[in-house]
Amino acid sequence: QYRHLLSPDLLQGQVAFITGGGSGIGFRIAEIFMRGHGCRTVIASRNLQRVAEASKKLVAATGQQCLPLCIDVRQPQTIAAAVDEALQEFKRIDILINGAAGNFLCPASALSFNAFKTVIDIDTMGTFNTSKVLFEKYFRDHGGVIVNITATLSYRGQALQVHAGAAKAAIDAMTRHLAVEWGPNNIRVNSLAPGPISGTEGFRRLGGKFAEKSNQFSVIPLQRAGNKTEIAHSALYLASPLSSYVTGTTLVVDGGSWLTSPNSFSALLDVWAAGANQ
Ligand code: NAP
Repeated sequence: QYRHLLSPDLLQGQVAFITGGGSGIGFRIAEIFMRGHGCRTVIASRNLQRVAEASKKLVAATGQQCLPLCIDVRQPQTIAAAVDEALQEFKRIDILINGAAGNFLCPASALSFNAFKTVIDIDTMGTFNTSKVLFEKYFRDHGGVIVNITATLSYRGQALQVHAGAAKAAIDAMTRHLAVEWGPNNIRVNSLAPGPISGTEGFRRLGGKFAEKSNQFSVIPLQRAGNKTEIAHSALYLASPLSSYVTGTTLVVDGGSWLTSPNSFSALLDVWAAGANQ
């Protein structure tokens, strides 16, 4: 069931390359781009079986083409090979969604040096690596749109999130730098920062179930968690000509959550200790 809010040919003939497109928010972005709006997609992540199965579902549900590819965003050569394959298949790439990421709750005192580095490597380095490969192989000469999926974690120094907060804040900075440098090549670069989004791995790992049980959503101005379709619609806005004069910004899609949600170190330590991140 999908009710169109926007023109069904909004992305007609275009191709989107979506890292992390085999699951959660990335999968729903692929679905909405394909189902309602005429886009073909490439979904890419480490687990080829996962993206291959996701691709089958997407093609069956939408009737559009979807190419599943194996990449590790920490390894530029894997991205380059995937982009070459995508260009061979589709002859063009119009949109890059940088969605690949890893996260978990952990107090800084318990976080290993390697765990911090791994999150920076996947989120921040991965976003730079993929953007640069796309720039060199296609966007520099043809223009394009980049949407970086970030988060609001750093806005108030969210407890137990120094790794992901720092990684996503660096991506928001990268968004502005790349918007400035690549604007003359007709490339728009924006961030999309979701709040708590139900039915996702991020929600499960970051204590969403706990928040649901303890009715903590009543502190969010819109009184609920968001859903994946709401994030996909915001990605659609940023990826489409609807936002043709928007670049270098972060669109926060969180029901006002970051303004009012709890950020008590001791209370969140209890969530962590209760195993919400297991
Ligand atoms: P998810 O389903 O776990 O998505 C993360 C994706 O990244 C997976 O498909 C994973 O696939 C891929 N990935 C991880 N490491 C990778 C690597 N090294 N190379 C390539 N791909 C890699 O999580 P989600 O909750 O939907 O989150 C999607 C995005 O939204 C993330 O950027 C997240 O930070 C952001 N976000 C989510 C929420 C939320 O409430 N869920 C809130 C704020 C922001 P493989 O394992 O196959 O590699």
